[in-house]
Amino acid sequence: MADLWPGLGGPKISYISPPPSETWRRTWPRSIAILGSTGSIGRSALAVIEKYADRFEVVGLSCARDVERLAEQAERFRPPCLAVLDAAVAEELRRLLPQGYQPRILEGAEGYAGLASLPQAGTVLSAQSGGAGLAGTLAAALAGKVICLANKESLVLAGDLVRAICRRTQAAVLPVDSEHNAIFQCLAGRGQEAANLLITASGGPFFGQNRKTLAGVTAEQAMRHPTWRMGTKISIDSATLMNKALEIAEAFHLYGVPSSRIRVLIHPQSVVHSLVEFDDGSLLAQMGAPDMRGALANCLLWPLNKPSGVPALDLARPGQLTFHEADTEAFPALALARQALSRRGGLCVVMNAANEAAVELFLRGAIGFLDIPLLIDAAMREHGAAHPGAMGRPFCPPLAAESLSELKDEVGALAARITRLDRHSRDMVCQLAEKDGSK
Ligand code: MG
Repeated sequence: MADLWPGLGGPKISYISPPPSETWRRTWPRSIAILGSTGSIGRSALAVIEKYADRFEVVGLSCARDVERLAEQAERFRPPCLAVLDAAVAEELRRLLPQGYQPRILEGAEGYAGLASLPQAGTVLSAQSGGAGLAGTLAAALAGKVICLANKESLVLAGDLVRAICRRTQAAVLPVDSEHNAIFQCLAGRGQEAANLLITASGGPFFGQNRKTLAGVTAEQAMRHPTWRMGTKISIDSATLMNKALEIAEAFHLYGVPSSRIRVLIHPQSVVHSLVEFDDGSLLAQMGAPDMRGALANCLLWPLNKPSGVPALDLARPGQLTFHEADTEAFPALALARQALSRRGGLCVVMNAANEAAVELFLRGAIGFLDIPLLIDAAMREHGAAHPGAMGRPFCPPLAAESLSELKDEVGALAARITRLDRHSRDMVCQLAEKDGSK
C-alpha cells in the first residue's frame, strides 16, 4: 500500500508522515477515539462508522460543551472513555448517562490528550474546532496513532513539529479536509510527478462582491454558506477566504511543497474538491457531492474504497462547472497566508490566533467583516516588528530529544510556546480592535 502513498522525502512531494503500518491496515475492527465527536465532522464520522459497525470499535468520544449530544452518542456507542472541557461539564455529563454505564470521563486539554493516546485506540480522528485541536493531534502523534486529521489548525500551528514527531513515532496522517483528501487521492503513487496543487474554494456566500458591499455584511449573512453545512467558525472563515488561507498552510505542511506551488481556484459548485497538475501539464481532479462523509470514509476505511452514504454525483445536475481566480483585493486572506509561510518566525501562529479572535469579535458585532483581515494583518506586522530576528526561521526548532519521554517533554515545551504566542496574539487583536473602535 506504500505505493498508494504520496511521495515521501521529496523533491516534488514530501508527505508529512509514513503510511500506516501493515498491521493497522489488516486489523479489523479498527478501534477509534474521536476528538470533537459532537461537531459536524464528528457526527458525519459516526454516520460512516455506524454504516460499518462491524469494522469499527469506538473507544473514545469527546466534546467541549455539547453534553446532551455527547451523552446520546455515548449511549449508542458505549465507549469506555469520554473527554469534555472541564469538571463542571463532566459533572453535567455524568447526570445524563444511563445507569450501569460508567465510562472514564477525562477533562480539559490533558483529558483530550489522554483520549488521543488511549492504548486501545489504533486510530484517532482529530476533529476539534480551531487551535484547541493541537494538543490532541500532538498526543496522538506522540503515541504513534493513525491520525485522521480534520483539524487543519494542528498543521497551521505546528506542521513542522507534527512531521518531526511522525518521523520518530511512525504515526501516520490521513487528511480529512475535503480539499487535502482530494489531493491525497489524486497523488496516490504519483507524488514525484506532481507540479502544482490546485485547491478549490467555493468562494463562500460573498463570491463576486466588492469591498464596498462587503463592508456592511452581517454575521448572519456570512453564516449562509451556499454549498457546505458547517460549524460557525469555519463558515465565517469560508466567507473571508481565511479558511482557504489556512488550507494553503495545511497543504504546505502536509505535502511538503512551497506555497508558490499551491494555487487556489474559486469553484462555486463545490463539485471538484481539488486537483493536482502533473509535469506533463495534465490535471487530475477528485469530484463528488459536497458531503464530508466521502472524505471521512476514505480516511477511516483507507485503503478500502466503500460506499460512504453519499450518493454518486450526477454531473448533468450541476449542469456546468465554473472556475475563477480569487479576488485578492476584496479577500486579502490568501496573501496573508503566503506571507506567513514565507516569513515564518511564528507568523502562522499569529495569523491563526488573530483570525480566531477577530471572528469572535465579528460574531459579537464588535467589528465589521472587513476588519477581520485588517486585524490579522496588523497583528502579523506587530509580531514581525517586535521579533525581527525570528523572521525567516522556523518557530519550532528541530527536535533534539533521544528517548520517548524526552520527546514528550520537548514537544510539551514547544506546544506551550505556541500557546503563549497564540494567547498574546489574541490579546493583541482585542487591543487593536478597541483602539480602532475608540477612534
Ligand atoms: Mg476544506
